[in-house]
Order: sequence, then structure tokens, then C-alpha cells
Amino acid sequence: MVVVMEPGSGEDRIQNVITHLKEMGFDVHRSDGVNHTVLGAVGDKTDVDIRQLEVLDGVHEVVRISEPYKLASRMFRHEDTVIRIGDVTIGGEEVIVAAGPCAVESREQIMRIAACVRESGAKLLRGGAFKPRSSPYSFQGLGEQGLRYLREAADENGLLVITEVTEIGQIDLVTEYADILQVGARNMQNFMLLKQLGTKKKPVFLKRGMSSTIREWLMASEYILSGGNREVILCERGIRTFENYTRNTLDISAVPVIKKLSHLPVFTDPSHGTGIRNKVIPMALASVAAGADGVIVEVHHDPDHAKSDGAQSLYPGQFAEMMMQLRAIARAVQRRVVDIADNGEEKRP
Ligand code: PEP
Ligand code: MN
Repeated sequence: MVVVMEPGSGEDRIQNVITHLKEMGFDVHRSDGVNHTVLGAVGDKTDVDIRQLEVLDGVHEVVRISEPYKLASRMFRHEDTVIRIGDVTIGGEEVIVAAGPCAVESREQIMRIAACVRESGAKLLRGGAFKPRSSPYSFQGLGEQGLRYLREAADENGLLVITEVTEIGQIDLVTEYADILQVGARNMQNFMLLKQLGTKKKPVFLKRGMSSTIREWLMASEYILSGGNREVILCERGIRTFENYTRNTLDISAVPVIKKLSHLPVFTDPSHGTGIRNKVIPMALASVAAGADGVIVEVHHDPDHAKSDGAQSLYPGQFAEMMMQLRAIARAVQRRVVDIADNGEEKRP
């Protein structure tokens, strides 16, 4: 249930409603929008007479939310969630690109790739240090050493770090090195992990499970949001369908669906979504055309010798091409991809 307050209703009225909701046994989550303050009342209650709330001073409307997710819903928060990390803004007008290798393989590798993705306009550097691989015999990542290299490469190039955390025991370590904590498709319903991330003050990048519905995905985000962490970014990374030409089927329609149902920013991952290098650019363009707030793509300077996902990794030249094309698409949908020349330092004489 949400309680929408009248525009400009004073703090004492808001507090009075909060007190009533708490007395009724609800957890209260507050969202201060441009026009209205909205109070999200979360709890498993069916026996509430909403008229008791409607008559309170300052209450504009009381709405039962029928969806099982509350805090993720557009009803709770009408305005888009915008996440600011340093000078990067996610969920605003700018389309943000995260790029880098599937896995951090060596210092030299990540340094090289960071420099070239930055050159083309990426804002976030991706790279797994803890890799959830389908086979226990495949490369599992460099662990903390990989995190160190990733951080160094990002700092050297003015990028932010996004990397995966695969279990609760890694959260503190990964938090030391990363700006955004990625939850992979295989962990989307690792509810204990999600709950722990809900208590942290780091943005979480929540990938859609490969066989999860949009509703299940939003419910997963609700685990993080209800713990108090409001900074969740959703990422469509392809789902399992009967089609097996591509590795997964990138569900681009999930982008406008999420935009309608939720206020959270949404990215796509056309690399894992297709598994095929030459399908990545068209799907990245389609994602931005469909309203995505960003894309995350795999880039490798020598994909033929990559330790994982080489076949879906772009060559640096292709990445540069993708960024150019994305700029045109972004403009067409009243968004923008900020060119490196707009970034400040290159402008200086
Ligand atoms: C990744 O981004 O490195 C990854 C493993 O992706 P996913 O969880 O979507 O498979
Ligand atoms: Mn990968």
C-alpha cells in the first residue's frame, strides 16, 4: 500500500501518518518526490481499513499496490531513480556504457583494455575477479589480485569499477575495490546475498536470472530495496528460450516493460544476451532505442586468447564503432552518450 501525501503537506503531518502506519504494523519507506511525498507501507496485512488513513490530515490518496513488489514499483516512486557515483550519473539523460573483459586475466590485460574503452567513452570498467563458471574446470578468476588490478586500471583511466560478488563472504572485500556490485544471473535468487546487499551503501547491478520472469526479477530487487539500499540497477542479460542460434535471447521488450513498472534504471548486456560478437552492436543499439539507461559489453584486445567469453567480446575497434553509433541512436531518443571531448580534460588547450 502507498500513501500519497498532498503537495506541500508539512513534516508534522507526514510524521503523523508514519506513526499511524507503524502502529498498524507496517514497515514504512519514504520517498520524497518533486511534488509528493509517498509513504510505502510494507507488510503482509490484509485486514486494513484504508479509510482510517484517508481521513488523516495531509493525505491525498491511499492506494493498494496489487503487485508483490512495492518499493521497486512506479507507484511507490513516480520519478526515475537516478544514481550518482562520483561524476557519473546513472538513470539520467546520459546513456552510460560499461565495458571491459569478461574476466580480469592479468594486470597488463586489464590496463590495456581499460585505456581503450575509456578512449572510446566508456564510464564504467567491467571485469570479473570471481567468476561463476558453468564448469569447475574453467578459469575461476584471479580473486583479490584481480580486484586490485581492476581498481588500478580504472583509477589510471578515470573509470568506475563494476564487478561481480558471488557470495556473502566476498561482499566486504569486493566493496573495498568496486563502485558497483554486480549480482550475476545465477545469483539473482540468492536471497541471502540480496538481503545482505540491502544493508550496504553501494549500488547493486542486478542481472536478470536466465529463466526468471520480470516479476521474479523485480521481487529480487525488492529484497535489496527493502533492506534500505535504494541504489539498484537492473540488467537484462538474455533469457533461455527454445532458440539456440544465439547463446540467450536478449529480451529487449523487458526494457520498456521495466520502465513502466519500475523507477529503477535498466541496462542490457548484449554480450551475454547473444554470445556472438557481431550481434552485440545491433542489440546494443536496439537497447538504447528501446529506452535502456545503459549497456554493459565485453571488450578484449585479444579475444581469440581470452580466458572466457572471447567469442562474444568486441575488438577495441568494434567498441569504438559501437560508441559512435550509440551516440546517433541516443540523440534520436532524446538521450546522449557523452563524448570524451565533452569530458573536460581533453577540452583544455
Ligand atoms: C558477467 O557479466 O560476467 C556474467 C557472468 O554475466 P551473467 O551473470 O549475466 O551470466
Ligand atoms: Mn562473460
